[in-house]
Amino acid sequence: MATNAEFVVSRLASVNPATGEVLGELDSAGPAEVGTAVFRARAAQADWNSLGIRNRIRILRRFQQILLARKNDVARRITQEAGKPCVEALLTEVLVVLDAARFLIANSFEILREQKLPHGNLAMKSKAGRILHEPFGVVGIISPWNYPFSIPATEALAALVAGNSVVLKPSELTPLIAMELQNLLREAGVPDDVFQVLPGDGATGAAIIASEINKLIFTGSVATGRRIAQNAAARLLPVVLELGGKDPMIVLEDADVDVASSGAVWGAFMNAGQTCLSVERCYVHQSLYNAFLDACCEKARKLRVGNGMDPGTEIGPMIHERQVRIVELHLEDAKQRGATVLVGGSRLREFGPTFFAPTVLANVDHGMRIMQEETFGPVLPIMPFRDDAEAVRLANDSDFGLAASVWTKDRAHGDRVARRINAGTVMVNDAVSCFSISEAPHGGVKSSGLGRTHGRWGLEEMVRVKYLDSDRIPRMKKIWWFGYGGGFAAEMESFVDLLYSHSLGERIKAVVNSAGALWRRKL
Ligand code: NAD
Repeated sequence: MATNAEFVVSRLASVNPATGEVLGELDSAGPAEVGTAVFRARAAQADWNSLGIRNRIRILRRFQQILLARKNDVARRITQEAGKPCVEALLTEVLVVLDAARFLIANSFEILREQKLPHGNLAMKSKAGRILHEPFGVVGIISPWNYPFSIPATEALAALVAGNSVVLKPSELTPLIAMELQNLLREAGVPDDVFQVLPGDGATGAAIIASEINKLIFTGSVATGRRIAQNAAARLLPVVLELGGKDPMIVLEDADVDVASSGAVWGAFMNAGQTCLSVERCYVHQSLYNAFLDACCEKARKLRVGNGMDPGTEIGPMIHERQVRIVELHLEDAKQRGATVLVGGSRLREFGPTFFAPTVLANVDHGMRIMQEETFGPVLPIMPFRDDAEAVRLANDSDFGLAASVWTKDRAHGDRVARRINAGTVMVNDAVSCFSISEAPHGGVKSSGLGRTHGRWGLEEMVRVKYLDSDRIPRMKKIWWFGYGGGFAAEMESFVDLLYSHSLGERIKAVVNSAGALWRRKL
């Protein structure tokens, strides 16, 4: 971890991945800036919390309306910095945030309000219990580049409405759109110190984890997530980890080949395959296999690759050459082990160094990296299966467990298979779009992470649950206090029978035998 003395302030350059143009430069925040930001965030949090949830919801509503008015401008900025087609920026980023705001405006008061907690234990009947939801204080958010607006914004809105202040470290590849989020929130009325962006790379992220934040919401790769979990464990910092995926798609014997192949092509290639919920492996019933391969190849060939700013573009550039290299390594490994490239398989250098052709692969198996590791590029490997049991076994044969999809014309059949898949989300007859269902929890099992974002579960991650208990008979000493005396054990034995015996006779006897405890002299 970088210390103050070691940290060298560096300049971050935000680069348009389609053109290589430098869009802007920012200073990285070092440990000193992180420390100051967290100090300010903590000082501002008390007033932000005292504002009350109704007033914070009002600010959220203003944010939503400002974002709605600027939707196209924000989408264009996302495209410039992350490369995805403008329409995807609008639908998978801006719309997702507008809808997350809608969900929080409508539901956060109800979810976070104080709640009575009735007791079932007769011995505790004199007590009134309540559940309070208290903000953690300062929530740190560390986010990736692939959804540079919707991921930090949905997490930040939930943290803010719950009464926390937020420090956000966006990916070093996409800092400008995070600054835009900061502008939108401030314009809506979020005080400057309540939401602060700290640009930087992993060293800035490490400084945030070492700082006095009270909770961390991390989204990124499994490798970074593991490192973060270790650092967080050393100081018992609570974390949510939204990590990578290797999502399987299962096309059952009774699926519609045309619908499922269109779903596969979109699920594998949207955002150039750089989506945690991307279709990364596809399993097709052997009776449909050839027809499905043909349909996917035909559809992949028709996709229009280009600069995301052009309205007709369907596949933009990948974010960085580093990411392209991973795709090339996985393809090389697969080909060496017998895979066949049916479409694509290489860069499209005529567009630029980060453009990669949508690629369909056949003859793949689980001995290949492309079926085991996250590829995070526009590649669709397709493998046949014999029956449902084999499809489920293949889908579950993975270290990851973020999401999965099952495709069938028979919804009941789809549900049965979906229940057997080990993942945080399983969709029947769609993929990826679960991220835009604001009510639905998002998160994984196995190496795909811990905890949830989105929906009521994501909001509950932003608060500590406090139990408040008040005894209604303050002048009475409790039966279980000291002054036990000789007969007390027998009385309590009867009292336990009174509480839990299924026999009416036993319980009546127990009332008589335990009653003496009420008049017992307590210390
Ligand atoms: P990454 O792990 O390289 O970086 C994520 C963030 O962590 C960046 O902001 C980075 O600067 C920061 N970071 C790096 N090292 C750090 C350290 N030591 N301490 C603290 N912070 C550090 O991931 P990426 O390449 O930006 O994003 C792609 C990955 O994110 C993929 O694996 C993808 O599946 C995953 N992802 C998951 C979800 C989800 O919701 N589960 C969503 C989007 C992306």
